[in-house]
Amino acid sequence: MAKYRKYITKGILEPIHKVPFHDKAPIKRTLMLGKNQKTQSKIHLAVHEVNSRGKKIAPYTELHRHNVDEIDLIISETGKLVYEIQLGDESYKIRAPCTIYIPKGLPHKANVLSGKGTFVCIIMAKKYKTF
Ligand SMILES: [Zn+2]
Repeated sequence: MAKYRKYITKGILEPIHKVPFHDKAPIKRTLMLGKNQKTQSKIHLAVHEVNSRGKKIAPYTELHRHNVDEIDLIISETGKLVYEIQLGDESYKIRAPCTIYIPKGLPHKANVLSGKGTFVCIIMAKKYKTF
């Protein structure tokens, strides 16, 4: 009766400032799939629940890159979640719903500017390098 239980992974609350290149921010971060969890999945997946409560959020992510591809989903029920995304030397102000594909090696950062919603970060390996 429990032969597929191993495919269900409990999320782990992990403060965003514990992630390399990230500072404190009013974001609830849950690691859904990662190297600290028992999973056969080959990806890293984290969810950020964002609520600016009408205030401006100071930038909290530094420019960084990975040795594997990353995909970010920016989702909002209200459609009012706004992020500033930097890819290489270019910066974009983007609004939910949006998918950002970040090829391995491309310097990037993502900072919420305003609104309420969800940021899903998928990194295409369970163990990867950030630099
Ligand atoms: Zn990244």
